Amino acid sequence: MNKQKLFDYIDSHKEAMVATLCELISYPSYQQEAGEGAPFGKPVRDCLDKALEICESFGFKTKNYDGYVGTAEFTENDAVLGILGHLDVVPEGTGWTHEPFNAHVCDGKVFGRGSIDDKGPCVAVMYAMKALKDLGVPLKNGVRLILGTNEENGSGDLEHFEKVASMPKWLFTPDGNYPVINIEKGMIRGWFVREVTACNSAKKLLSFHSGKTINAVPELANATVCGVTEEEIKAAVSALNPMCEVNVTEAEDSLRIDVKGKSAHASTPALGDNALTCLLAILAEIDIGDEAADLLKNLSRIYPYNETDGLSAGLKMSDEVSGGLTMVLSVLDYDGKIIDGKLDIRFPVCSSVNEVSGILTQTLNGAGFNNVKAGGAEPHYVDSNSAFVKTLLGVYEDMTGEKGECIAIGGGTYVHHTEGGVAFGAEFPGEDNHMHGADEFMTIDSLLLNAKMFALAIYKVCNNEELE
Ligand SMILES: [Zn+2]
Repeated sequence: MNKQKLFDYIDSHKEAMVATLCELISYPSYQQEAGEGAPFGKPVRDCLDKALEICESFGFKTKNYDGYVGTAEFTENDAVLGILGHLDVVPEGTGWTHEPFNAHVCDGKVFGRGSIDDKGPCVAVMYAMKALKDLGVPLKNGVRLILGTNEENGSGDLEHFEKVASMPKWLFTPDGNYPVINIEKGMIRGWFVREVTACNSAKKLLSFHSGKTINAVPELANATVCGVTEEEIKAAVSALNPMCEVNVTEAEDSLRIDVKGKSAHASTPALGDNALTCLLAILAEIDIGDEAADLLKNLSRIYPYNETDGLSAGLKMSDEVSGGLTMVLSVLDYDGKIIDGKLDIRFPVCSSVNEVSGILTQTLNGAGFNNVKAGGAEPHYVDSNSAFVKTLLGVYEDMTGEKGECIAIGGGTYVHHTEGGVAFGAEFPGEDNHMHGADEFMTIDSLLLNAKMFALAIYKVCNNEELE
């Protein structure tokens, strides 16, 4: 195969690729109310129909699986390689200077919701396949593009698809990072509740509120206390000496403590500064002494300020391939009657949902919280020495001149629940693209480079006898 011819073909289709991407961006394909044949709403169904129509115009055979998933392929041979992208997006959010669903092309970038996640990568795969087909590049085995519609909201699309069809033997998703993500930690979400008996003492904790989302380090926390002096609070703050900003204000017959830290995703909690555990630690320093305050003191003992490795909760563990467990106490509310908390744990491949939730429950029971629920997903692991992963890493090295190494992440990608799937692209190391944020974009250079990477990956995987 003449690589240069393949790359020239892709370069010469730059305008067409940008136009296709803009067309797909025009569908506001975030999850909306289900309808007939549109399990995740009409816009994403329409977007899927449009993408399949474009694939047909390229001469691909397509199939629509009840509006959940669509597939496209052009080879006679059975597909050994599947490439899994998604056409659904997150809602536009706020702060845009461009229109989220009316793509804007300038400075070599395509702006619009879904441009990098994941419509642009899907377009890159479509044109990589078109290039191989139009140039008549021989493929011993087939390739199938698989377009999903519910990645952002629980992957109900794949659940349906795997009931009625099967994934090809080798699978990658261009919905993550280069070089290759082969390990995704397991995840546990825990909930605990405890009723507190009313207390008449003069000194007491009146309320505590922190965190809204279970999978984020909480940025803000506040509590109100009575019978405690401002000096006592300030002494507790200076004993702790936190990075968080702490403010004390007088309210009616009480004092309110406000803490401001820094948010971060639960898969990378060390990048944040946990306002919740900071406030727990401050309160633990003050001898308030009512039942609620004592229970929060217990929580502070097992979840100390900014401890993210689970050490004090008996959960510290790690292995060589996936690194260490991370934990975030992310939500805690107390209104005078009930303490209600949530936490997020990412654990390495050496452990299991059962083991981690068992330790978690035991520890929380020991701290006075008997009502604990925990559930989650097992880790995802693909051997970094497999011929498939090595083939993809080889393509990355070939195309970028950089060392191709596997990466382990705390988050889950689209292939988390598949057998043997990895993430390959579409984001290059250090790239800025505002994914999920305002003014999301994909550079046209990245669109072209991705298409070349995918074309080469398809060629190599589909002609590799080891991978048949
Ligand atoms: Zn995505």
